[in-house]
Amino acid sequence: MVDDDVVASDAFEAAAFDAVDVIRTKRDGAALSGAEIDWVVTAFTRGLVVPEQMSALLMAVLLRGMEPHELDRWTTAMIASGERLDFTGLTRPTVDKHSTGGVGDKITLPLAPLVASLGAAVPQLSGRALGHTGGTLDKLESIPGWRADLTHAQVVRQLETVGAVVCAAGPGLVPADRLLYALRDVTGTVESIPLIASSIMSKKLAEGAGGLVLDVKTGSGAFLADRTDAEELARTMVRLGTAAGVPTTALLTDMSAPLGRTVGNALEVRESVEVLAGGGPDDVVGLTVALAVEMLRTAGLERSPDEVRRALQDGRAMDTWEAMVRAQDGDPRAPLPVARESEELRAERDGVVSALDAYEIGVAARRLGAGRARPDDVVQAGAGIEVVAPVGERVRAGDVVLRLHTDEPARFARALEAARSAVVVTEAGTDVDGSTVTGERVVAGQVLEVVRG
Ligand code: URA
Repeated sequence: MVDDDVVASDAFEAAAFDAVDVIRTKRDGAALSGAEIDWVVTAFTRGLVVPEQMSALLMAVLLRGMEPHELDRWTTAMIASGERLDFTGLTRPTVDKHSTGGVGDKITLPLAPLVASLGAAVPQLSGRALGHTGGTLDKLESIPGWRADLTHAQVVRQLETVGAVVCAAGPGLVPADRLLYALRDVTGTVESIPLIASSIMSKKLAEGAGGLVLDVKTGSGAFLADRTDAEELARTMVRLGTAAGVPTTALLTDMSAPLGRTVGNALEVRESVEVLAGGGPDDVVGLTVALAVEMLRTAGLERSPDEVRRALQDGRAMDTWEAMVRAQDGDPRAPLPVARESEELRAERDGVVSALDAYEIGVAARRLGAGRARPDDVVQAGAGIEVVAPVGERVRAGDVVLRLHTDEPARFARALEAARSAVVVTEAGTDVDGSTVTGERVVAGQVLEVVRG
């Protein structure tokens, strides 16, 4: 978003602390004072604490952790590094959703208009694809004409008239996070739960919504594959939001297989439109409804799952989707781009599809051109993967399991390599590890736990 709402910075005393003393304090396992935290985050953002020093401090945080009061202050200091959006003048209650990212995770597309059609205002500042996960803006940019960059005034106007906005976050929102994340990326300090939680929550709190629902993924395609780590991240973020006075709930959801039947930008828009038309895959509909119920509850507009489903079936959510796309110059009725070439991956034996590893499918989609290995890579709108035989489906040798799409056939070989390693077909009744399947399989998007503030 173009910044036109910058918070004034207060007086800052450059010589108040010595960076080396701050590093030593955390290195030796003591808690930092609030004043030290404010100083070090601000001094780093202004270039007065050098990257080498901040790298050492980040490593000390990774090894020693942070007390809850330190993390609250660290997050607040990050927010204060930039602008804060203000939606307090709106007549509708605002509520935002954040997903920690996944494969085939197109939920924002049906969710934002659905929740808006039921009375809330949904400001979704979203990102682009990186690594094996997709990005909401890339998906929407496959709609002819649609644009992601809006001013704060345009966002406010669209929230009031349509109720939902999905747009790019401007450079003025939490600049400290951009600088810190770049350092974490090259110093082995991304995997620190306090640093992840403060990175996500500083941006979400700066966005200024009145309530927040987090979709924290766990499983191979998730940012944190391990369930215990994902649970700790969920609890940490819910506590941070609540401490900041923003009602926050987290749903811990499965990301061991891709969500829905499509992975890739235009393919995922098409599937989202199916959901908005009252159809679509059960896992995508189920998670969209679960998150919508939670968002509406958070916004004080309680609705049952059946009432929410009705807004998908009777066209209310679709009307809001079309208005939302049009408000950002997109044509919701225009044909979506289709890739020039396709290839099929077939089952090598009779049996049941017992795994479609989300991480490997995400890698395959990226190799087809649907995502990015580096931030400046260009994505293809039509590239991606259709899941023809999802987890749990019986197949015969030779049946199509996945259909791969790209504009550049040279991409197929490496994409097929990843896709092949994602697919496990076992004898009926047998799981990936050879054990007997007992009970229901976990499906992508299943809500495993709800964490409330
Ligand atoms: N996403 C973020 O925004 N920050 C992190 O640190 C990790 C994931």
